[in-house]
Amino acid sequence: MSDDEIILVCARIEGEPYLPDNLTGRCAECERMVQYRPHAPRPHRLCCLECAIELARDSNSTVEITTTKKMVEDARAYFRKKLQ
Ligand SMILES: [Zn+2]
Repeated sequence: MSDDEIILVCARIEGEPYLPDNLTGRCAECERMVQYRPHAPRPHRLCCLECAIELARDSNSTVEITTTKKMVEDARAYFRKKLQ
């Protein structure tokens, strides 16, 4: 892992992606299929939410969990749509 690489926290895919233009990849930790937004910063290492929680729990870890404003907005839009 290079110094410039960030860990991108992704939702696992169970069925359809949340948004039609989501890209898919595999979690670097558990190798499950995950989805992420096409505008996510690069370079990145994909990590599902479940593994990210485990990484963050590890007190020896220097891992920084990254998200972006745009990703948060997309998530908000998704949940708003779901609640309608
Ligand atoms: Zn994982």
